[in-house]
Amino acid sequence: MKILVTGGAGFIGSAVVRQAIADGHEIVNVDALTYAASLSNVASVEAEAGYVFEHVDICDAVAIQKVFDTHRPDAVMHLAAESHVDRSIDGPKAFLETNIMGTFTLLQAAMSYWEGQGKPEGFRFHHVSTDEVYGTLGAEGQFTETTSYAPNSPYSASKAASDHLVRAWGETYGLPFVLTNCSNNYGPYHFPEKLIPVVILNALAGKEIPIYGKGENVRDWLYVEDHAVALLKVLSDGENARTYNIGGENEATNLDLVHMVCAILDELRPKDAAYVEQIKFVTDRPGHDLRYAIDASRIIDELDWRPSVTLEQGLRKTVKWYLANEAWWKPLQEVAEERRGTKA
Ligand code: NAD
Repeated sequence: MKILVTGGAGFIGSAVVRQAIADGHEIVNVDALTYAASLSNVASVEAEAGYVFEHVDICDAVAIQKVFDTHRPDAVMHLAAESHVDRSIDGPKAFLETNIMGTFTLLQAAMSYWEGQGKPEGFRFHHVSTDEVYGTLGAEGQFTETTSYAPNSPYSASKAASDHLVRAWGETYGLPFVLTNCSNNYGPYHFPEKLIPVVILNALAGKEIPIYGKGENVRDWLYVEDHAVALLKVLSDGENARTYNIGGENEATNLDLVHMVCAILDELRPKDAAYVEQIKFVTDRPGHDLRYAIDASRIIDELDWRPSVTLEQGLRKTVKWYLANEAWWKPLQEVAEERRGTKA
């Protein structure tokens, strides 16, 4: 397939691009290159004959239409978004612009292209979304594909809106689509403002390791390369107009997660004191959802996908990657620290 991937210079999008090229697909990578992007994430594939990069904002209707008309993709995988919850609390506008209006603009361009092609049945608009659209869980239960939407942050509200737009374009105009809602991703090339890279990099720098509240929030951690495989599977084998929840079968409290990362660092980069001694509990995020948990039985049973690593295995790979790739994270860490006001 020739796949138009939006956000392919970001964390998950670049994993999708690398996996898709390895699988023999052609890729048109459309990315506006915001602070969260890095073309070095896709450096390993940029010389491939089937890879093209388009520096385009998905909110730019004319430029996006031109991308469709020039490259004539068989499918769209839409990952471009403003993705950091804390930033959505500081400044929600960009989230509404990209995640809602950008998705609308992309849908309109995809529709116009798909109609112009004679409405091929095999075309797919795959929207990559989050389990955060379902809101928060108590101690028990899991999100299924029929859980009601109840987003709590500006970020999750904008993703919920974009999910609804995609579904509506399918119902109203017949645009073939699939939706995926996944849990928290982690792994190589994760921007250093997100929890796991912050823990690793602050630990290595001898700085405090910040944990919101008491560290009781529970997330289901999904290794990004497993996620990329799942997304490509849904694109090729998923049923039209269906949602698939994707999770890692790896629930952990933030405190347990940080302890696991510290234990791996104690082993791989030992120093006099244990890394857990750097943990500092900080004021909680407003509206912080307590627990997310995914029931992934639909994608497991129907599409024969399963996560390939445990949390311990995935964290070990991730820590090793950060230890070996300082040239990647060093410049990006400064961008992350500027926003947090922690830049020395
Ligand atoms: P990211 O922030 O690492 O990357 C987003 C990419 O989109 C960047 O390359 C950025 O330049 C690009 N982008 C942003 N605005 C754009 C615009 N207007 N036009 C074109 N490109 C633009 O995000 P990520 O963590 O890789 O997430 C990818 C997708 O997966 C997002 O839609 C996000 O909501 C969803 N998601 C992420 C997670 C997670 O744990 N990271 C979990 C669930 C869902």
